[in-house]
Amino acid sequence: MPEKEKIIIIGSGPAGLTAAIYASRADIGPLLFEGFQTGGMPGGQLMTTGKVENFPGFPDGVDGQELMMNMRRQAENHGCRIVTEDVSEVKCDGCPFTVVSSSGTEYESCGVIIATGATARRLPYESEKKLWGKGISACAVCDGGLPIFRNKELAVIGGGDSAVEEAAHLTRFGSKVYMIHRRDELRASKVMQERAMKHPKIEILWNKVVEEFLGDEALRGLKLKDTKTGELSELPVAGAFEAIGHIPNSEILHGCVQTDGSGYIITRPDSTATSVEGLFAAGDVQDSKYRQAVSAAGSGCMAAIEAERWLQDKGHLA
Ligand code: NDP
Repeated sequence: MPEKEKIIIIGSGPAGLTAAIYASRADIGPLLFEGFQTGGMPGGQLMTTGKVENFPGFPDGVDGQELMMNMRRQAENHGCRIVTEDVSEVKCDGCPFTVVSSSGTEYESCGVIIATGATARRLPYESEKKLWGKGISACAVCDGGLPIFRNKELAVIGGGDSAVEEAAHLTRFGSKVYMIHRRDELRASKVMQERAMKHPKIEILWNKVVEEFLGDEALRGLKLKDTKTGELSELPVAGAFEAIGHIPNSEILHGCVQTDGSGYIITRPDSTATSVEGLFAAGDVQDSKYRQAVSAAGSGCMAAIEAERWLQDKGHLA
C-alpha cells in the first residue's frame, strides 16, 4: 500500500526548502524528497557555489552550503520530514498523485510541489566524457583548487554570468584564465562583463567554440574553431570549466505536465500552478528567466501557500 501524505515536496534547493518551511508552519506536515544523486547534490546549486553575495539579509555575504544547511534545519525544526532519496517518477493522472522513489516505494498525495531545479549542461563530445574529472569540470568552486589546476593556464567555456563567476574564481588558482565564447558579445550582466574585461588574468577569446578536448590521461588542451572564419586552432590548457547553462530537471514527470520547448514547466502567470490541478512548480525547474536563489525561495513560498489553499478548498486537509 502506498504511503499517504498531505503534501509532497520534491527538491531541496531554496524553492523546495522554502515551500517546506511554509507548509510545515501551516501544519500540513510535508514530506520532502531532498534527492540523492540525480540532478546534483541535495541542497541544489548553492551547495557548489562559494560566497553568495546577493541573498538579502547577509550584508557580508553567506557561504552557499551554510545557507542551504540552515534552510534545511529550519524546515526540520518546523516539522518537515526529509527523505534522502531521488524520485524516479511522478504519476500525475489525477488526485491522488503517485510519487515513486528510487527504491521503488510509492507515496500518494493530492498536493505535490515540484522544485527539482536544473542541472548544468555539458558539451556532447566523446572526448569530453573521456576526460571528465581529468581536467574537465562544470564547477570551479568545487574543483578549481585541485593541484592539477594550480599555476596552470585554464579555460572557461561560456559567456554568461556563471562563466564570468567561474573565471574570476579560477584566477585564484590558475596562472591565466581564458573565457571561450561563441559570439562577440557576452551574455553576462554589465557588472559581470566589466569584472571579466578588467581582470588582468582573464582573456576572452571571442567567436570561438570548442571542437574537441585534447589529451589521453588528462586534459592537455582544446581544439577551437572560429565561428566567423572556420579557422581551427589549439589552446594548451590544463583545465576546462563548462558554464554553458542548465537543463530543467522535469523528466520525472514524463511529459504529464505542460512544459516549454526546453523542458521548463509552464506555470500560470503570477502563480506556481501547473497545467495539472494540485501539482505546483517552484524554482529553476519552472524559471528560465531569473534563476536566482531568492526568486526560487519566493516561488517556493508561493507554491506552499497555493498548495495549502488548493488542498483546503478541495477538502484534502480535513
Ligand atoms: P546562461 O544561459 O545565462 O549563459 C550560458 C552561456 O553559455 C551563454 O553565453 C551561451 O552562449 C553559452 N552556451 C550555451 N550553449 C553553448 C554551447 N553549446 N557551446 C558554447 N557556448 C554555449 O547561463 P548562466 O549559467 O551563465 O546563468 C544562468 C542564470 O543565472 C542567468 O540568469 C544569470 O544571470 C544567473 N546567474 C547570476 C549570477 C550572479 O548574479 N552572481 C551568477 C551566475 C548566474 P550565448 O550567449 O551565445 O547564448
